[in-house]
Amino acid sequence: NDEINIISGTLSLKRKRVMDIMTPLDDTFMLPYDAILDFDTLAEITREGYTRIPVFEQTRSNVVGLLNIKDLALLDPDDCTAVKTLCRYYSYELCFVFEDTTLDVMLEEFKKGRSHMAFVQHVIQKGDGDPEYETIGVATLEDIIEEMIQSE
Ligand code: ATP
Ligand code: ATP
Repeated sequence: NDEINIISGTLSLKRKRVMDIMTPLDDTFMLPYDAILDFDTLAEITREGYTRIPVFEQTRSNVVGLLNIKDLALLDPDDCTAVKTLCRYYSYELCFVFEDTTLDVMLEEFKKGRSHMAFVQHVIQKGDGDPEYETIGVATLEDIIEEMIQSE
């Protein structure tokens, strides 16, 4: 029965879009690009408990970087390191996907192993000009696997 659930969960990946399973931006723990990693901020990061923390500039829908908590292990809170310093130092490649990307495609993307968090993009078409994009949520490998193994 577990096997049947996993097979039907895996087949459903083709039908589901990333926007249906993502963590919406409002629920995502993020940091501003110009934040300082002082004691309070480091304590907040620890309390939130996430491994990957998106970094935004000006507005939350404008994601410009990513922090991994393992990169904070050697920080001294008294040094008040800036988020932007770490972003520049590690400069992780960000993975952006369109909101209607199906989960089977997402899984292939994650399997390439460049990143385990993707930023879900919404297209804003204003008139005839070039479209603008805004991030509306995040999705991780964990979110896809959850869809694969969920029971009815
Ligand atoms: P890991 O398991 O690799 O330590 P994690 O526990 O921080 O990472 P995941 O396991 O990748 O996170 O994801 C668990 C859930 O948390 C998923 O639903 C994912 O969308 C969500 N999530 C991941 N990072 C954040 C974040 N910074 N803010 C809010 N939700 C997040
Ligand atoms: P885990 O430890 O849970 O297997 P991970 O540490 O490999 O995960 P990912 O889940 O792949 O991390 O997501 C962020 C990681 O992606 C970074 O820690 C880093 O190792 C890797 N990464 C992404 N882009 C780059 C890049 N441009 N250069 C180097 N490493 C990168």
